[in-house]
Amino acid sequence: MSWITVCGGGNGAHALVGTVLLRDPTTHIRLYLPLEDEQRRFTKALSSHSSFELQVAGEVYSVASDRIHVTRDPEEAACSSIIIMIVPAFAHGAILSQLAPYLSKGSTIVALPARSGLEYQAQDILGTISQNGCVLVGFQTLPWACRTGEFGHSVTIYGTKNRVGAACLPAKEIGEKARVFSTLLGINVIPYQSMLELSLANTGQLIHPGIMYSVFADRLEEVFPSEAIVPLFYASVDDKAAEFLSQMSKEVLTIKKVVEERLPSFEMPGVVHLSQWLNQSYGEEILDISSLAKQFQTNQGYQTFKVPVKKSNDGYRVDVNTRYLTEDVPFGLLVTKGIASVAGVETPMIDEVITNTSAWIGKEYLVDGKLIGRDMVTTRAPQRYKIDSLQELVR
Ligand code: NAD
Repeated sequence: MSWITVCGGGNGAHALVGTVLLRDPTTHIRLYLPLEDEQRRFTKALSSHSSFELQVAGEVYSVASDRIHVTRDPEEAACSSIIIMIVPAFAHGAILSQLAPYLSKGSTIVALPARSGLEYQAQDILGTISQNGCVLVGFQTLPWACRTGEFGHSVTIYGTKNRVGAACLPAKEIGEKARVFSTLLGINVIPYQSMLELSLANTGQLIHPGIMYSVFADRLEEVFPSEAIVPLFYASVDDKAAEFLSQMSKEVLTIKKVVEERLPSFEMPGVVHLSQWLNQSYGEEILDISSLAKQFQTNQGYQTFKVPVKKSNDGYRVDVNTRYLTEDVPFGLLVTKGIASVAGVETPMIDEVITNTSAWIGKEYLVDGKLIGRDMVTTRAPQRYKIDSLQELVR
């Protein structure tokens, strides 16, 4: 019998627990839930149901729920050889700090997904990874679109990506880890050569804040009288918004080009244009690939997701306090902006999105285009960790 620790109790964690237990009958899960309410609710659900159910492609699979052990004890959580954080990036720091005193040499710590700048934060908390005997693995995205059904008991996976990129610290471990996690998760894990490649290949940072800004900036005051008419999120991308997203993506490609030119043996093949990434990730789920707008509009995996809204007396309004901004700006776009700044690359579109959307959520990151706003300390931009040269970025 082997144990894997899963940190988190949300949609992704439910899908991961179900997937791992289904794929490997010898594995048990230590589910680390430091939030007291979640720990209590999950424990109660496990005692009420003898099975945990995973629904995929219309089939329901059951596994014995006594293979899941819930804990709030970080020492117990840290004693598995594989520890997977499946939480929003803003929770990585808290979890890494809780587990840090108890991690042993040989631990593999995974962020699924990593978002951007994970390596700076992890080394700030855990010490130099190459010296402490741990391996850090970051995934470029979550492999699944998934939602919890009954908390602690069931989950539905609506779609699985064709492939997911991953990077490691130390970087040389990635071949072995890609094999391990391809088998464990039943997905095609594409090895990236560095954490910098992973950070720049984070497409969530373009898609989420980019759509919030280019599609919904003019609709923040609009009232949707019923939930049924709240617009779709991804599928609302029209030609104008697609052009904006494409320009953001091209800015990232310019950063890649400049970094590769200045560091001749350093390559980041996983950093591709958004359009190419959509095709690679979703394949035949996209019915029309004739333009970027059509790729968003006809991606079958995107058809159920609506723009986040909040309820008010007269209906529903777009909710700007969404992870599309509170996660993907400080743990995505600002990391990219920081890397661009080190490389000496201008990013006017990305700056425009950061400046406007951060004002919506009451944050100050950029002042006159510089990374000196008061809320920079809450981001994972390299400058926060005193990293200000290309050599340090890739070290
Ligand atoms: P979720 O909101 O369902 O779950 C979040 C969980 O994180 C909480 O339930 C809690 O267990 C944990 N958490 C939050 N703050 C914490 C803290 N301070 N300390 C400890 N634990 C904390 O989120 P999710 O849908 O599971 O998403 C996880 C990640 O996957 C996010 O980065 C999300 O953007 C990404 N993602 C999700 C989907 C999806 O379909 N669910 C798709 C693509 C990417």
